[in-house]
Amino acid sequence: MERFTKSKTMIFPREIIVGHNTTPQIAELCDRIGVGTSVLIVADKKTKKLSGDDINKILTKADYDVKFKLVSDPTVGEVNRVIKYGHKHNINLMVGVGGGSVIDVTKLAAYELSEPFISVPTSAAHDGIASPRASLRHSRGSVSKTAVSPLAILADTKIINKAPYRMLASGCADAISNISAVMDWELAHRLKGEEFSSHAAVLSKTAAQLLIDNAEDIRPDSEDSSWLAVKAMIVSGVAMSVAGNTRPASGSEHMFSHMLDHLGPGIMLKGRKYRKPLHGEQCGIGAIMMVYLHGGDWEKIRDALKKIGAPTCSEELGVSKKKIIEALIRAQEIRPERYTILGETGLTQDAAKRLAKTTGVI
Ligand SMILES: [Zn+2]
Repeated sequence: MERFTKSKTMIFPREIIVGHNTTPQIAELCDRIGVGTSVLIVADKKTKKLSGDDINKILTKADYDVKFKLVSDPTVGEVNRVIKYGHKHNINLMVGVGGGSVIDVTKLAAYELSEPFISVPTSAAHDGIASPRASLRHSRGSVSKTAVSPLAILADTKIINKAPYRMLASGCADAISNISAVMDWELAHRLKGEEFSSHAAVLSKTAAQLLIDNAEDIRPDSEDSSWLAVKAMIVSGVAMSVAGNTRPASGSEHMFSHMLDHLGPGIMLKGRKYRKPLHGEQCGIGAIMMVYLHGGDWEKIRDALKKIGAPTCSEELGVSKKKIIEALIRAQEIRPERYTILGETGLTQDAAKRLAKTTGVI
């Protein structure tokens, strides 16, 4: 008999607090975590006002020694500045207060400093709020980096509900795109023998399904919607922790999205204000097309995105048809080692055009 040699490490958040007006619970949460009293809050200008200042007050009142670091873009330079600051002040707990970017910077700095961090999302724009991965921007697009799962998550839906609805809709699209990511993962498992976790896959699909089933009820000015979105994102994050990689939530649709980032800014639509497409919006459109390629129920994805109010075509996304096609053709260059429905060489020009047209994306 073959000897059993398998082993695996999974790191999960220890405590997750979600709901209306949960911010005041930050002090007790830090007490329970009990890793020390030197806390660094990381936020940007907006999220400092939204929630960072309150957290500062609450923690200071509870005798924590609180430092504050303002960040702007999710870049390597910004992460390094936070690491340097953390070293200098002997920080033993970090609190990332913000949307995707701030959480990503905090996550990477915490990973490098080997200190735990609490994720305090102020919007639900993408599933990074609970995942062990972070993405950083550089001159030509973005890169995904290994970091660590938050030790705890404190999501105050009262605050998240104040964020522009577009961000929430984008976050929902990001979680719905788990459907194509899991299809890609299954394919890579069957064709390339890649390790596959059915538990992680089920969790990831459950998160997407929760939003597809409730798409009708996801709408602006409803704290219920924020609740659903955050819930789906946390389950997504847990799925990635179980898998030990981003496979459950990132496949060909994410490569398509990263390629759009790489190709540069969107176009100015005539007579309209320029709008920068959001990560989740791009992934949602990618998911429609990739599920089609898999022979899956792509209309179900499109309809759910429509109901939620996320873009389902190039015009709504604010990207030219030409760029959609180029991103489809070149998407697989983003991570050639990650096998997906795009295969090893990607789509041909004709196939890309047909795909985008058939699914109504262009
Ligand atoms: Zn994503």
